[in-house]
Amino acid sequence: MFDQTGFLPTKKLRDFQNKIQQMAREKIAPQALGVDEKEFFNREVESLLWDHGLLTLTFPERYGGYGKGRTVALCLAVEEIAKVCASSSLLLIIQAVGSFPIIHGGSKRLKQNYLPQMSKGRKLVAYLVTEPTAGSDIASIQTTAVREGKEYLLNGSKCFATSGGVAGIYSVLAKTSEGNGNSSFFLVDRESPGLSIGRTESKLGQRGSNTTEVFLENVRVPAENLLGREGEGFLMAMRDFDMSRPAIAAQALGIAEGAFEAILQFIKERHTFGKSIGDHPAIQTLIADSATLIEASRGLAYRAALLNDEGKNNTKFASMAKSFAGDAAMKITTDAIDAIQVLSGYGFLKDSQVERMFRDAKLTQIFEGTNQIQRLVITRQILKESM
Ligand SMILES: Cc1cc2nc3c(=O)[nH]c(=O)nc-3n(C[C@H](O)[C@H](O)[C@H](O)COP(=O)(O)OP(=O)(O)OC[C@H]3O[C@@H](n4cnc5c(N)ncnc54)[C@H](O)[C@@H]3O)c2cc1C
Repeated sequence: MFDQTGFLPTKKLRDFQNKIQQMAREKIAPQALGVDEKEFFNREVESLLWDHGLLTLTFPERYGGYGKGRTVALCLAVEEIAKVCASSSLLLIIQAVGSFPIIHGGSKRLKQNYLPQMSKGRKLVAYLVTEPTAGSDIASIQTTAVREGKEYLLNGSKCFATSGGVAGIYSVLAKTSEGNGNSSFFLVDRESPGLSIGRTESKLGQRGSNTTEVFLENVRVPAENLLGREGEGFLMAMRDFDMSRPAIAAQALGIAEGAFEAILQFIKERHTFGKSIGDHPAIQTLIADSATLIEASRGLAYRAALLNDEGKNNTKFASMAKSFAGDAAMKITTDAIDAIQVLSGYGFLKDSQVERMFRDAKLTQIFEGTNQIQRLVITRQILKESM
């Protein structure tokens, strides 16, 4: 399952990974610093991702999907891109997350209509779950969807919508009744009257991703745009997490590897007190600990992804992978700044890229369920298994 460079199970995946690695290093890496500094959504990188089929990886094959092994493929692509630019890798993740309710809950007719719009028409999708008063506790959302004849009427405010201002399609979670099992996903077009985009957020990290508020005021959608059955929204969001959390783990892994590469490069070049800084015991500990955290993150991320591809329950491993790799990425990027700054100050400079990676890593501990919530999920799963 693993070779010296990591998890590379098939030649198809190995070739896929090599192609993305080359593209990321040649075309995305040179833009990463500028995108972060100016905080803008880079349409050039978006086009590149479409050109390489990376924004439809989890779609059915006839709409540009990777096919068998799609979660592992998504993770490999995210990891390679995150090594050089986490913001760009987030676009892949949110496209997979946002299209999940459509792919798994849309009627045949709806999919035949919308999936080509996304794959051939290159439409981005955003995932509208979080609200100002409902983040971790998604069961407490306030957005409503009321059935009126052949339509639903949607009202509510969403926030923290990745790609919110650049998407053409939205997967929206709304309450369809009071009580438990009360939420449902809907597909909403960007052009729908009553849908408007609010503030674009200015962020600490992953600043090349677009994050906005989205408002729904008396938005009418055809009843056919209900994704899955009424009341299935919460369950669908949980199943989506089983795919997205390994991908966030892969993003954290990629950021950590990017920072680790910078540490190694620096160590090769830097000498103090007549010897390479790699000969100082404190630096050796940092290298050993970082490399171990990276390999442990890789093991968990791809185990969770593989289980998902095999149709097995991966909820516990997905949460372990996401929380472990996110925490590891924070530790490694912090250590990278500390080690390099203490020795010379270069790590503190924007040009080092490590400073950006440190800020980018923080988000992996927050979205798709905070790392505190992952611990609740892990414990719940363990107790369930021990019954
Ligand atoms: C840049 C960015 C992009 C995002 N993209 C999207 C997106 O595309 N779509 C979307 O729907 N959402 C998105 N989110 C929202 C994200 O998923 C939420 O921020 C996250 O789930 C946490 O919710 P919250 O911020 O409301 O924090 P809260 O839920 O208010 O939590 C506050 C704190 O309390 C802790 N906490 C809460 N409940 C518990 C508990 N039971 N036990 C222990 N600790 C607890 C949390 O861990 C956290 O530390 C994004 C967020 C960011 C920052």
